[in-house]
Amino acid sequence: MFFDRNEIDRRIRQSIVKSERAIGKGEVASYIPELLNVDSDTFALAITSTTGDTYYYGEADKEFSIQSISKILDLLAALHDNTIEEVYTKVGSEPTSYEFNSLVPITDRAANPFINAGAITTSSMIRGLDVDDKFERVLDYYKLISGSDKARLMKDIYESEMETSVRNKAIAYYLKSKGIFDENPEEVLDLYIRSCSIGSNVKDLSHFGAVLANKGYGLNETKDLIPESIVSIIVSQMASCGMYENSGRYLMDVGMPSKSGVSGAILAIVPGLCGIAVYSPRLDKTGNSVRGKELLKILSYELDLNIFVR
Ligand code: GLU
Repeated sequence: MFFDRNEIDRRIRQSIVKSERAIGKGEVASYIPELLNVDSDTFALAITSTTGDTYYYGEADKEFSIQSISKILDLLAALHDNTIEEVYTKVGSEPTSYEFNSLVPITDRAANPFINAGAITTSSMIRGLDVDDKFERVLDYYKLISGSDKARLMKDIYESEMETSVRNKAIAYYLKSKGIFDENPEEVLDLYIRSCSIGSNVKDLSHFGAVLANKGYGLNETKDLIPESIVSIIVSQMASCGMYENSGRYLMDVGMPSKSGVSGAILAIVPGLCGIAVYSPRLDKTGNSVRGKELLKILSYELDLNIFVR
């Protein structure tokens, strides 16, 4: 973003208007009943630069569950508590063309940490006394990196998913049967679902992204909140596997490492520059926010954000 603040703001507003062509397209996720309990045309955007500048639009304070974006936190915590080798012997690092909750991409292990089977695996590697303690660590990580203590467990979302999680239960038991982890599958799943149910907003999420874009350093600080070696793994996995089975095409169209969640949020990173969070709950068939993708594609062009075209 080598423009002044007014020009950046003008280009963002123009991009938002262009993205209105996606309004009404797609469906809100319904397999977790409580996710349906939203205004499907809600829209929010936040951009936080690595120097701490912020740009907020739409319902930027609106709370939503981060869903699969929590897979970043699960990986982060697993890499904090184990060596890279330990983590990546239990989970693969390759994209998959199967949907996020498919059992197919688990052969000897899950294809990557950003599908459900992979995040259930990384959740099993998070250390702590019990599920409460482990979840508190995950939530504290998010609060520390997002620079806000607002994040919390959205109890209604959590309970709704716990009641309807037969597929994820099957995945957890299957992984256990394959000897991927020794822990109790019910507890591993509980932790995974609690992380998915973390409530946040685009402001805090974009700040979290800006820290990843800032090599893991706190904004305007010299303190590293995430070691650079872990940032590099997370951002590269976002690029290759962050948008489910649409990851390759999305990267080609948008050119920013990103991670989406079925609540309709997408977090995009431009290394060295900024974190961008969009929220718009209507999803396409691959589980990605229709308007979110459209807007990120436009912003990538308007603000010259494509990491492959520099
Ligand atoms: N909690 C959701 C699930 O496990 C997360 C899926 C997602 O956002 O991709 O099904």
